[in-house]
Amino acid sequence: MNKIAIIGFGAAGYCAAAEARKWDPDALIDVYTDAGRGPYNPMLTTYYVKGAIDYEAMFPFGSLDEIEERLGLCIHRNTAVTGLDAETKTICLPDGTKAAYDNILISTGASAFVPPIQGGDLPGVFKMRTAEDGVYLKKLLDGGKIRSGLVVGASWVGIKVVEDLVEQGVDCTLVDGADWAFSIAAFRQTAQRVHRDLEKKGIKLAFGQMLSHIEQEEDGRITAVMKNGRRFTADIIAICIGVRPNVAFLKDSGIAVNRGVLVDERMGTNLPGIYGAGDCCEAYEIQSGERKNIGLWFNARKQGEVAGANMAGKRKAFGGNALLNLAHYLDYDFISIGDVASCRDEDQVYEYEDDRYYIRAVRGEKLKCINMIGTGESNGVVKSLFIKYFENNQAEMDMASICHLKENGFPDSFIDFIGRDQH
Ligand SMILES: Cc1cc2nc3c(=O)[nH]c(=O)nc-3n(C[C@H](O)[C@H](O)[C@H](O)COP(=O)(O)OP(=O)(O)OC[C@H]3O[C@@H](n4cnc5c(N)ncnc54)[C@H](O)[C@@H]3O)c2cc1C
Repeated sequence: MNKIAIIGFGAAGYCAAAEARKWDPDALIDVYTDAGRGPYNPMLTTYYVKGAIDYEAMFPFGSLDEIEERLGLCIHRNTAVTGLDAETKTICLPDGTKAAYDNILISTGASAFVPPIQGGDLPGVFKMRTAEDGVYLKKLLDGGKIRSGLVVGASWVGIKVVEDLVEQGVDCTLVDGADWAFSIAAFRQTAQRVHRDLEKKGIKLAFGQMLSHIEQEEDGRITAVMKNGRRFTADIIAICIGVRPNVAFLKDSGIAVNRGVLVDERMGTNLPGIYGAGDCCEAYEIQSGERKNIGLWFNARKQGEVAGANMAGKRKAFGGNALLNLAHYLDYDFISIGDVASCRDEDQVYEYEDDRYYIRAVRGEKLKCINMIGTGESNGVVKSLFIKYFENNQAEMDMASICHLKENGFPDSFIDFIGRDQH
């Protein structure tokens, strides 16, 4: 009988368990989760904070009891796996015991990174990733005493915290060490439009600000002190400066790890019977042809499914993905598809701007990167076209995509630019 173990129970772990059960009704499936509650959707935490959804809605797959019964799993709650021995095919548990497996998935996700700075643990300093982080911020805001908030990190998570603060009438300042918002995915020109639009909503911005430490003020407020000496005082401070894959427990396991666990297209690691999926791993990225850590809900689910099927004896592959960053906040959409860092001065640039849209696209021999603002309902269509042209720049643009883009007000010049090599 196939003994499957799953370490970490988020979207990737859940989808792996469901898929493994589908293909192998007799498998023994042990799930090890460091939490005592069901898998949550980190994207929904900020929606819970602002009251758009109930607490339960953060858990799209149900409670651990429900999942355990539905999928026939053995779920080990509050059990953080501390090590993995590939030779003996065992994992180490916090109580010092070991558990055996035939096939195992590492789906331990990522954690919000808070640097070890003075004042990083003061009351009112928080991060945003887990359901518990959402509960913490909601409680603070619902208390009605928070007048001002500072968000450190002008990226995908930080901007969602800004949204929570602004919608509750909290005076909000957003700072970042980079020179502009969404710096790893936005062109400078795109960010200029983002900045203007944020400032119109009353958000104060400051860039080139590297956090040094946090100090407690006598009046109860807290001050973020920057390395350049600038001080930002507020009632609460969110630190949203990135995530780190949860892979430290794999040290000395022999599993190849870069930033995350390195996996092939079947989500297999360098060692037989050991798989990785979701935010803790680096999978194939189509543009660079390299393995990259792309922390997306879709990736976590799809990679989990592929790993689950393979652990159950099927042969499935994950086709890879493009770099993708999308942010929906304050009735505003920004998406970046492809690698902004790969763009060069000699590349062709397309730019379009009106009251609704800002679009900037760059191509060398192939499309390299597209930034779009205001295009929420069309992001999926453009992403599919980007991947299609990237894989085959002679591909025909399908009529449904053309009609969709035209109906949604995209200029013909943009459709022409992204489909330029088509015959
Ligand atoms: C605020 C926010 C907004 C986001 N917005 C978007 C978006 O708009 N679109 C999008 O596609 N994605 C978005 N994401 C990213 C998306 O939520 C993640 O990519 C996805 O949920 C990752 O799922 P996962 O299963 O890999 O990891 P996780 O959900 O992190 O699950 C891993 C689990 O494993 C547990 N674990 C860790 N170590 C151990 C151990 N040693 N033993 C046992 N258990 C362990 C962890 O505690 C965790 O519960 C957002 C994320 C955040 C935080």
